[in-house]
Amino acid sequence: MIQIVDKRQCSGCTACEHICPQHCIAMVADEEAFLYPKVDESRCIDCGLCDKVCPVLSPIGQQKPLAAYAVRHGDADTLANSTSGGMFMLLAKFVLAQQGIVFAAKYNADWSVSHAAAMDEAQLELVRGTKYLQSELNTTFVEIKQHLKAGKWVLFVGTHCQVAGLKNYIRRPYDTLICVDIFCYGVPSPFVWQHYLAELTQRLSVNGDKATIKEIKFRDKQIGWRYNGVKIGGTLQPSGKSFTLAEKTGDNLYMKAFLSGLANRPICGECPFKDHKSGSDLSIGDFWGIQRIHPELDDEKGVSAVFVHTDKGQEVMKQLNPLQLIEVKPADIYAGNPYFLVPSPTKPARQEFFDALHATNDFSKVVEQFTKKNMLQRVKHRIAKLIHWT
Ligand SMILES: Cc1cc2nc3c(=O)[nH]c(=O)nc-3n(C[C@H](O)[C@H](O)[C@H](O)COP(=O)(O)OP(=O)(O)OC[C@H]3O[C@@H](n4cnc5c(N)ncnc54)[C@H](O)[C@@H]3O)c2cc1C
Repeated sequence: MIQIVDKRQCSGCTACEHICPQHCIAMVADEEAFLYPKVDESRCIDCGLCDKVCPVLSPIGQQKPLAAYAVRHGDADTLANSTSGGMFMLLAKFVLAQQGIVFAAKYNADWSVSHAAAMDEAQLELVRGTKYLQSELNTTFVEIKQHLKAGKWVLFVGTHCQVAGLKNYIRRPYDTLICVDIFCYGVPSPFVWQHYLAELTQRLSVNGDKATIKEIKFRDKQIGWRYNGVKIGGTLQPSGKSFTLAEKTGDNLYMKAFLSGLANRPICGECPFKDHKSGSDLSIGDFWGIQRIHPELDDEKGVSAVFVHTDKGQEVMKQLNPLQLIEVKPADIYAGNPYFLVPSPTKPARQEFFDALHATNDFSKVVEQFTKKNMLQRVKHRIAKLIHWT
């Protein structure tokens, strides 16, 4: 029976919940709003299936990349509205053209994030774009299995751990399932996200107005792909005025907490799925450092990095029609994305950070306090940035 004694051993993938023949496992949120399985022991028959499908307890194993590419979508609008080089839209349109279903992450009404099915172009718009918090899977795995049994094409896009969980849950191979993992720095806490949004709306609600958020976009490319921004827009009622908050990603308080290693799920700091261990057909991310090997693509519009892990992945790549498809060496991708190979570090003060957030409504003060750099750290950070971007 699955028992989470150490939270660094669970990514919350839901495979155990859905495989249980007794339906006696529920995903329950902890004080950081991360979901963990909880077994109703009175109904458990000790069949052991939950342990068998857990991708942490039953790892998938390492895949050797068959090929690596730099990819860019040919449509200027699609590229501008994609986080990286638009690889997701190339794949999604291919699957929709087969009358298939795309499962990817979308915002809910309260700006939490969960996976949802997209069966047409309008639904596809909702699951595009990066959302930097852990996405809830709900019944996604069960729905995917039903569609596969009905002979449908399915594209699943998620983090390494979500793909590994799906692969273990599905168990047998399906020719029509394409699993794609996104390069992942880690998944931040939905509690931290809601805390940030609560403070933001409170700050914007002045002179009797109440702020309502209508749009959130991480990695907005208006100021460029590398030095991108966070854009949050909405309206103030009853005055009817609108507001837009546009900040550089590095200045946004929520992103500061995320990128400092304060807010991620405990397992992220020891992620066992790094270095091609998710079982995916393809891995997609940002091609950081493209300017070093293909300076002609260095125009701030965005480039995707792609690893191909399976023959099916290679077949799918042949069906896509990107503007640029350039074969590269895996090492060219690793150079700009070291956290594809190893977990991103967790800040030692992570627990104190969460304790402080639980004790106050002052998100800004807590984040500033925990992300303040001393002189030596500032110099090191600047040097690291210079090395990264040149
Ligand atoms: C939490 C997180 C951390 C990331 N860390 C890195 C990194 O360190 N390095 C790097 O190169 N790239 C990272 N990425 C991936 C990158 O931001 C882009 O999502 C990816 O390159 C795809 O961009 P695109 O242009 O192909 O498509 P887009 O149209 O931008 O599509 C993004 C895809 O990611 C899915 N997605 C969005 N949010 C989530 C989520 N919370 N959980 C699961 N799936 C989601 C969307 O549904 C969509 O399928 C991260 C993404 C997330 C969500």
